[in-house]
Amino acid sequence: MLMQSAPPLGDLENADEFIARHIGIEPEDEKKMLGVIGSASRRELIEGIVPPSIRRAQAMDLPAPVTESAALAELKAIAKKNQVLKSWIGQGYYGTHTPGVILRNILENPAWYTAYTPYQAEISQGRMEALVNFQTMVCDLTGMPIANASMLDEATSAAEAMTLAKRSVKSKSNVFIVAGDCHAQTIEVIQTRAKPLGIEVKLANSAPEWEKLMNGDYFAVLAQYPTTSGRIDDLREEVKRAHAKQAAFIVAADLLALTLLTPPGEFDADIVLGTTQRFGMPLCNGGPHAAYLACRDEFKRSLPGRLVGVSVDVHGKPAYRLALQTREQHIRREKATSNICTAQVLPAVIASMYAVYHGPAGLKRIAQRVAAYTAILATGLKRMGFTLTSEHVFDTVTVKAGDKAASLMARALDAGVNLRLAWGEYVSMSFDETTTRNDIEQLWSIFAIDGQALPDVNDFAKGIEPMIPAELRRTSAFLTHPVFNTHHSETGMLRYIRSLSDKDLALDRSMIPLGSCTMKLNATSEMIPVTWPEFANIHPFAPADQRAGYAQLDEQLRAWLCQATGYAGISLQPNAGSQGEYAGLLAIKAWHESRGDAHRNICLIPSSAHGTNPASAQMVGMQVVVTACDAQGNVDLADLQAKCEQHSAALAAVMITYPSTHGVFETQVKELCALVHQHGGRVYVDGANMNALVGVAAPGEFGGDVSHLNLHKTFCIPHGGGGPGVGPVCVVEDLVPFLPGHEAGGVPSNGVGAVSAAPLGNAAVLPISWMYCRMMGPEGLTQATETAILSANYISARLKDHYPTLYASANGHVAHECILDLRPLKDTSGVTAEDVAKRLIDYGFHAPTLSFPVAGTLMVEPTESETLFELDRFIDAMIGIREEIRKVEGGDWPREDNPLKNAPHTAASLMGDDWSKPYSREAAAYPVASLSGAKYWVPVGRVDNVYGDRNLFCSCVPVSDYA
Ligand SMILES: *Cc1c(COP(=O)(O)O)cnc(C)c1O
Repeated sequence: MLMQSAPPLGDLENADEFIARHIGIEPEDEKKMLGVIGSASRRELIEGIVPPSIRRAQAMDLPAPVTESAALAELKAIAKKNQVLKSWIGQGYYGTHTPGVILRNILENPAWYTAYTPYQAEISQGRMEALVNFQTMVCDLTGMPIANASMLDEATSAAEAMTLAKRSVKSKSNVFIVAGDCHAQTIEVIQTRAKPLGIEVKLANSAPEWEKLMNGDYFAVLAQYPTTSGRIDDLREEVKRAHAKQAAFIVAADLLALTLLTPPGEFDADIVLGTTQRFGMPLCNGGPHAAYLACRDEFKRSLPGRLVGVSVDVHGKPAYRLALQTREQHIRREKATSNICTAQVLPAVIASMYAVYHGPAGLKRIAQRVAAYTAILATGLKRMGFTLTSEHVFDTVTVKAGDKAASLMARALDAGVNLRLAWGEYVSMSFDETTTRNDIEQLWSIFAIDGQALPDVNDFAKGIEPMIPAELRRTSAFLTHPVFNTHHSETGMLRYIRSLSDKDLALDRSMIPLGSCTMKLNATSEMIPVTWPEFANIHPFAPADQRAGYAQLDEQLRAWLCQATGYAGISLQPNAGSQGEYAGLLAIKAWHESRGDAHRNICLIPSSAHGTNPASAQMVGMQVVVTACDAQGNVDLADLQAKCEQHSAALAAVMITYPSTHGVFETQVKELCALVHQHGGRVYVDGANMNALVGVAAPGEFGGDVSHLNLHKTFCIPHGGGGPGVGPVCVVEDLVPFLPGHEAGGVPSNGVGAVSAAPLGNAAVLPISWMYCRMMGPEGLTQATETAILSANYISARLKDHYPTLYASANGHVAHECILDLRPLKDTSGVTAEDVAKRLIDYGFHAPTLSFPVAGTLMVEPTESETLFELDRFIDAMIGIREEIRKVEGGDWPREDNPLKNAPHTAASLMGDDWSKPYSREAAAYPVASLSGAKYWVPVGRVDNVYGDRNLFCSCVPVSDYA
């Protein structure tokens, strides 16, 4: 007989649901918070905030949530539909062994993957050291003087190199020469980028074509080194020819090959780029991988992407910070040269650590082994009667197989091996770090199609000359800095990695309340599938049936995101929000062109927009017209209407962010969309703030035509210290035909080409968002949105007597973030928003977004994942800081010498024998009691940005500087 009190089975079964793990606010907390805000219920609060005109008509049609274990099992079944074969396909993607110490302690370690972009220099010294190692590694291997801290992929890096060359060289030509044996996906992305900018791409598909083009007029040339078919060309004279035309010579180079080959910097190349994938990042079906971009010194001030530089802190000690302006140096709104924001920091850190761990000798040994195995394979194939297309190769052998090609490919597949077929009659194979003697023998047996006798690898045991021409062998040293020559034992490496992450604040230590960036929980169950071999070890150009699991993941996730956004079609190819913006504007442009409206090129963008918006518009050749915002922070509809009328015939698009970057739900967004449509334009809704909308309102329903999402904000992909991200582009029905294609990857396109190197972009992080949706279900996702809004309003309400919220809706509420106005404090105390941001470090917090979108403010976004305990801890810290400011205002502390101006305080500065500050050491380090149990000690004092920009230095610091 059942006891009266036995709970229903359903309650027991749902008790381990994920929703309550993801959302930090408990039901009792919610009541307290609503009390502070003055709302009777969450429903009442939300109904008072989200304008009725835009609320969803229907709930999202998503599967009901399942537990963590059930979701993992379901995803595993999908993953198993991928087939992990040996892939010797090459084409920019190679097998690699991720050292276990790096896999577990970086790729799978929240101290690294939950960190934010290092805008707050003092709490990011560890990851910036890793990025400086990355920059040094790239400079050393390429022979170039300066390199940035990562690009999105090799193909987009090549496209950025093209535009970097265009704005840097003297030649006025519009022609860009591309060697035909660059990777196919690189050529495709370049063509996509070149078209709207009016750059004419000329492909040189043969030696005579190359000769003819090189004698013509052009502003830059791109060649691959070694080429996609494996050949090593001597480019030395070609660089001189380009320079004689005042044009730039760009080289896409393989970093592992450069340990053995003369680096492009030594034959005067202007820009060098490529991928770092084979330095420890698995194939991942094409991404995420860090690409690199290096250039000559004269080009450095227009180099896109982030650059970490060395400066000094207030104590005169070396300290890292992002160089050339604290925010994206290149995103100068309408004058932008590139729109890259989120890049590939985590993969870049991994590549740099791979170099640290192996060191120059280890890397060279890997490269020599690859080259030796390649030479053995080639020699054997020749003995068996096959003809190679080149005798000068590093890791790739291409055989002219003629009519045997198809059966060779089939025999290889039968043996569980992927080879590469080119032009129907050439078969290529690329070796890598994972290749073994058995693999060589297996390939010979596959090629013994006519029963040839097999060579014996043992015949070469004494060594074999690599097939690298003598005049192109590298003689210069590389990676000579001690960091690459110290941490070669696993114990040493483990401690080096740990010492760096200990310097940093990530989500594993405290909340990161960054407005616009949505730093929410990245649940471990969401992360686990990323390194499953069925997802990690898939080559992006493997036959489609081997990627069936990825295809299903892609299809389901797109369907769910369509539900969440109200759009009809989505592409997951863009690998950052900025790339989604770019792809979305390309779709709008292509749609106008398809209707004979190619002249429509005006893009209206409100002044409050994120910098990537105007940057993206200008990349697709649109002309940006800025529209005003009113005193409440809303888009000024009257000004927008006037500009729509003025530009009616040429209006292409309007880009808005919703809810706005000012943190409010504008009530007239439907009218705004209708107005733009009346004038023949399309509405781009920047979806970075979707965390305020999912389940509540859908941009595709209230008038948006295109949006991008940031899966690394709303959909739980961790920030990785500044990437990887995914920026899906979502469109309404009539724009679906204009989503990006990818011919090299078998995705057809309707005139809009590829926007990323890989057909599914950063494919291997998509399981994270899939897991999130699957475990939350429609109610969980909606509850997350509502709780994010609740938490932001709670912070705004509790801080209102200390820091007023700058913009609110008519009833005083905010959306999912609030802008705290600190500007008046400057007059009363001399304290700036930056001082408060730095003082928060002493309290153990990462600062909110500083001076965006309004200078002198802090934008706070708590997200739904934080507990009430943590929200209160943050609020108490902010109030504690306000009390300190009051002491300055009251004259207790001098304006220029107080805990705020001197923040953050390092342990060393507090331990010194001479303490002459007007406040105690305890007040400096332990302003609130809760810190006594767990104190984060900042490794450097406040960093001097100006010094660093005047003395730009972007490689590893000589050890003597630390003395
Ligand atoms: C983050 C953000 C972007 C850019 O996205 P990335 O993924 O960093 O390229 C664009 N718009 C807004 C409003 C953002 O917050």
